[in-house]
Amino acid sequence: MQTEPSARPRGLFEYDPEELADKLVEMGGRPFHAKVLRRDVVAKGLLTPDSLTSLPAALRAKLPEELPLLVGRELDRTESRDGTIKLLTGFDRDGRRDNAIETVYMPSRKADQGKGATICVSTQAGCPVGCPFCASGLNGLLRNLQAHEIVEQFVRARALGPISRCVVMGIGEPLLNFDALQRALEIVRGGLELGARKITVSTVGFPERVRRAAQADPRFDLAISLHTPFQEQRDELVPAMRGVPIEEVLLAGDYWFESTGREVTYEYVLLGGDNDTPEHAGNLIDRLQGRRATVNLIPYNPSPELPYRRPNPQAVEAFRAHLESAGLVATVRWSRGLEDSAACGQLRAQGAGA
Ligand code: SAH
Ligand code: SF4
Repeated sequence: MQTEPSARPRGLFEYDPEELADKLVEMGGRPFHAKVLRRDVVAKGLLTPDSLTSLPAALRAKLPEELPLLVGRELDRTESRDGTIKLLTGFDRDGRRDNAIETVYMPSRKADQGKGATICVSTQAGCPVGCPFCASGLNGLLRNLQAHEIVEQFVRARALGPISRCVVMGIGEPLLNFDALQRALEIVRGGLELGARKITVSTVGFPERVRRAAQADPRFDLAISLHTPFQEQRDELVPAMRGVPIEEVLLAGDYWFESTGREVTYEYVLLGGDNDTPEHAGNLIDRLQGRRATVNLIPYNPSPELPYRRPNPQAVEAFRAHLESAGLVATVRWSRGLEDSAACGQLRAQGAGA
């Protein structure tokens, strides 16, 4: 079927700040309206022109036709019993239906009542890294998200409720789309009060990219997905990093700590029977001893098409205790939203027409 060329106007977050001021002047507004508008949308999740009462009514009325606040379409929304909401958003490009990407909104648990939610955002449609335990990479990379598409995930999540933390752990490898991510975070910070400790970016740890990120005024914490202390096994579990020595990854993590003053978290997906043996724990201890770092253990979240097993809670606890007995700090992340495939590694980019 022939697709129509896109006639849609550019969206609010597709403009850079100066351009946006010009656009608003052209629409009869004032330059300062640019900042007010962006802030109100990001900070308050106000998505209808009528609710943007800090703008003149005449200007508001023109927004839908001339400057839409959002450009994606919500394709699906699923809510788990624990309150986790998964949003599937579709973006059109050049008039064609394009990939759908996922964003997860996790309200605070009872113990943290009063705090806002944690959101998990995606940076790519699909992922080129190809970790065999992760559903996000099954079809490879479809494309990088643009900065405004990353911002839009925050805005859509903010419309669901307050946000107090963000993990960049959705679909994709953030350091392979770093410029767009940095631009998006800059816009988001103009509205949401997310300090450096409130944003965590998770990467497989390409050493050069970690170093470059460390130098780029990264106002976020870094998590590096390690998954095993054994080189051969890492080459299998993180295929795009085949041949990059684990020690190089750890040295890049050290560099991050030295340049930013913030400790790295090493993530470790626990695959029952594959990387959760005492030998693995012992070698991980050897690798990390003397380094200022935390290990975050993530029990594998199953996907039907993948051949791995979720370890039982005793095995997870034994692994954690082994690390702690050697003086490492180790935490366990039992994922939320499991039953609706909104957990780590279960997010899926959907192709055109999804
Ligand atoms: N691409 C980045 C960030 C997204 S994945 C990265 O890999 O770090 C976020 C985290 O979820 C990573 O630590 C990843 O290893 C983990 N993950 C992927 N698939 C998983 C699964 N099936 N079960 C549990 N964790 C998984
Ligand atoms: Fe990509 Fe991360 Fe999934 Fe690996 S775990 S395929 S890097 S999203």
